[in-house]
Amino acid sequence: MLDKARQLLQTYFGYDSFREGQETVINYVLDENSSLCVMPTGGGKSLCYQIPALMLEGTTIVISPLISLMKDQVDTLIQAGIPATFINSTLTAEEVRETMEEVQNGQYRLLYIAPERLESPTFLNQLKKVKVPLIAVDEAHCISQWGHDFRPSYRAIHRLKEVFKEHPTVLALTATATPAVREDICRLLQIQEDNTVITGFARSNLAFSVVLGQDKNKFLKEFIKKNTNEVGIIYAATRKAVDLLYDLLNKAGIQTAKYHAGLPEAFRNKEQERFLTDEARVMVATNAFGMGIDKSNVRYVIHYQLPKNMESYYQEAGRAGRDGLPSECIVLYASQDVQTQRFLIDQALDRERIPQELEKLQGMVDYCHTENCLQQFVVTYFGEQNATKCGRCGNCTDSREVQNVTKEVQMVLSCVVRMGQRFGKTITAQVLTGSQNKKVVDFGFTKLSTYGILKGKSLKEVSGLMEFMIAEGLLSVDHGSLPTIYVSDAGKEVLLGNRLVERKGVAVTKQIANNDP
Ligand code: ADP
Repeated sequence: MLDKARQLLQTYFGYDSFREGQETVINYVLDENSSLCVMPTGGGKSLCYQIPALMLEGTTIVISPLISLMKDQVDTLIQAGIPATFINSTLTAEEVRETMEEVQNGQYRLLYIAPERLESPTFLNQLKKVKVPLIAVDEAHCISQWGHDFRPSYRAIHRLKEVFKEHPTVLALTATATPAVREDICRLLQIQEDNTVITGFARSNLAFSVVLGQDKNKFLKEFIKKNTNEVGIIYAATRKAVDLLYDLLNKAGIQTAKYHAGLPEAFRNKEQERFLTDEARVMVATNAFGMGIDKSNVRYVIHYQLPKNMESYYQEAGRAGRDGLPSECIVLYASQDVQTQRFLIDQALDRERIPQELEKLQGMVDYCHTENCLQQFVVTYFGEQNATKCGRCGNCTDSREVQNVTKEVQMVLSCVVRMGQRFGKTITAQVLTGSQNKKVVDFGFTKLSTYGILKGKSLKEVSGLMEFMIAEGLLSVDHGSLPTIYVSDAGKEVLLGNRLVERKGVAVTKQIANNDP
């Protein structure tokens, strides 16, 4: 069977060999085992159902929320000689009727549909007459409330399975799935969790780094001037920040385009075009920019502010270096940006999701404070096991000396315990540095033996140390209505003197102390 698959890969797509993971997934499908395929954007997920669609009798249904990309995908297949079609809200009722008739006649190998379609009983009824061996669920994370893009209509997919007498095999595909999302996908689509294939998250041409507490505008201008011939994207968290940066960079003589949802469509399109044609080498944008954009020569992606979670970060950062050439992905971190994201999360209508969103934000903050390999941090977050160090990121190439900070860490942990493990980071740092803040006095914390135990350090230094401890898993955060910190099991080991804690150089704390804008 796989020989046949390889032959089709060559005949229809012109490729000689499968990429990592593709064969395993295709094998699951051909064996009629439902499975979950987790691969990064550009990893080659589509072939995992397109090739089986050529081999299986009947019409494979592909569910995708990306209506704007559907036509392109179908056109590409038709060009390759594969009969395919789509049904979504861009078609007239007459066109839908005609297409369905053709589908019922078995004219297509693949039928792409938007998930909303599944809510129409008429449509489901029409499908009954079609032989469907495989249902491919693209962007499968949309089925999970834990995902970053929950779509209620995805929950109707299980109804689709029931429509057919011989239940089709299901193949769920996504680029961004944390363990919780994966579990949800498998449960809701009745996939055995063992049938999960996760590969290829590491991007060997990307060098990740985090710049802590520097003058961001100065950093940006210098960075762009140094890379003046290169193309890059700068993501900011708010429209206002995009507007400000756009003015700042244009004034500095840098040809810059901008994009956010608050701009008139015609202007946005023009700006996008300027960037796509390299007329503007820099694009400043909110996360509204990038979906479906395939620009291969982006040499750097800089996040001017912290993104809201690792999923968004990796997707946005991953727009760098699509051509495989070395590229940079930088986060400019300042602690107040965490507040901006908290604020944005708090505006969300769905109150139930807030704790999850805060937890995800914490993952992003941890990324900024870890001293381990950044690439390894990301792929581990996405569920890859045994990831190795990349040797390229800001942490792997950080040659500053390692210092033993066990004693300071023990002081912090001990203070957290004495405060009852039910307070936040800020007040804990105030207690440690001996602040006379009213809250500190009112709670009677001035009487603690750990009060003022880190007096020689600034609040920012101590906060930085605590962020590092959270990232290293020594302190945990409880995301209630007010986040509180407590000592984790690993932290307890440090308190007991069973574990040493090392941190790279004092330079980081100095940077935080002196330059935070
Ligand atoms: P995804 O859906 O995971 O984002 P795609 O399926 O769109 O990724 O694939 C990304 C690109 O990689 C496409 O241009 C595709 O043709 C190409 N590709 C996929 N599989 C292979 C392969 N085995 N060999 C070479 N190129 C491949």
